[in-house]
Amino acid sequence: MAGNIIKPGNATEYKTGGWRSKRPIHIPEKCLWVKNGTCGLCWIFCPDDAIRLEEKDGEYVHIYDYDYCKGCGICAEQCPVDAIKMEDE
Ligand code: SF4
Ligand code: SF4
Repeated sequence: MAGNIIKPGNATEYKTGGWRSKRPIHIPEKCLWVKNGTCGLCWIFCPDDAIRLEEKDGEYVHIYDYDYCKGCGICAEQCPVDAIKMEDE
């Protein structure tokens, strides 16, 4: 029997960062988003929407939200230039 959805849209109330045993570390010097605003694969594949790719004053920044990053490592696996490494918490 399927579960009942009592309160839809409440996923943000669960801070999945508490599940993490490994932490993704971003290496901006290698990142294609930081270099020229391309790629974005880590953002596309992150299952917890824990990565923000932003443009501020012509500069591209990559930000982790560690409240929600559960340390699955998918972003590091997807990165084509090894700009993310996983470290033990
Ligand atoms: S480790 Fe997983 S949850 Fe954390 S930012 Fe990467 S893909 Fe998202
Ligand atoms: S996948 Fe790698 S190169 Fe692409 S935006 Fe993410 S960190 Fe940068």
